[in-house]
Amino acid sequence: MHLVVCVKAVPSTTEVKMDPRTNTIVRDGRAAVLNPFDATALELALQIKEGVAASGEPCRVTVLSMGIPDTERLLRDCIARGADAGLLLSDRAFAGADTLATTYALGCGVRALGEPVDLILCGKMAVDGDTAQIGPELAGELDIPCVVDVQAVEGPLGAGDGADEGTGDGPICRHGRLRAVRATDAGTELVEVDLPAVITVGKDAARLRMPGIPGVLASSDAPVAVLGADRVGADPARCGLTGSPTQVVRSFVPERADEAEPVRGDAREQAAKLAELIGGMA
Ligand code: FAD
Repeated sequence: MHLVVCVKAVPSTTEVKMDPRTNTIVRDGRAAVLNPFDATALELALQIKEGVAASGEPCRVTVLSMGIPDTERLLRDCIARGADAGLLLSDRAFAGADTLATTYALGCGVRALGEPVDLILCGKMAVDGDTAQIGPELAGELDIPCVVDVQAVEGPLGAGDGADEGTGDGPICRHGRLRAVRATDAGTELVEVDLPAVITVGKDAARLRMPGIPGVLASSDAPVAVLGADRVGADPARCGLTGSPTQVVRSFVPERADEAEPVRGDAREQAAKLAELIGGMA
């Protein structure tokens, strides 16, 4: 079984710098961290890998990112924690991508892996762009199903477990099914999905393990491919700013009209103060 986890490097601070010309984030590799939702997705993938491996079937986890060259550092950190390999899509042609162009590049990356993929895990959202579009769009790009806001997984069910036999055709082959618990506005839902599929993972699904010393040592020699647009067969017209129908025309910090007033004291004092404030507004 082959799992791919899409991971994004995001600024480690909320005080991000924007490029005034392109209105895109100025990405400083030194200040980048793994998107927290992707850390959760990685842990879920590692747990699936352990479950599958325990049943005697080989299972590999590849981490995939589109980003600046320094993102390789984060991919190696993922490998230190248990992923097997990484692919970094890094090219000026990818810069300034909106979600559509990002999804296109990631889709090219998945196809370029040259190895069938059973499950793609994304974070539910990235904490800088916040659109939560990439997972569902990637499923659309690859024409496979998507389950969003997954809290836990059960399975995967093997092909002999009532699932369709794999056809093995194309870069992504059918393998079995996965049962996932997803959050909804009304509570939770148990969903069964054919693989290959994309799932987007909610932040409470798991907590990423710490790297062990053997993992850290192995990660420096682990296979991390850094490929540009031409190496993954991406059409430059569909990449980066050029390939982005959505462009951020202006970004700004909203001005606050009123100062917030802290309500201090014990519960009784806070309630009295709150009643006074609300009364003053009426
Ligand atoms: P999300 O869809 O929130 O991310 C979900 C998951 O997708 C992540 O958890 C991760 O698993 C995966 N993922 C996302 N990016 C990558 C990556 N580079 N590599 C690997 N995996 C990844 N774009 C638009 O199309 N429309 C907008 O309105 C828009 N507004 C923006 C506003 C701001 C302030 C900024 C900074 C960016 C905006 N963008 C917008 C651009 C958008 O952030 C990028 O396209 C980005 O590459 C992907 O979108 P996201 O961060 O919202 O990802």
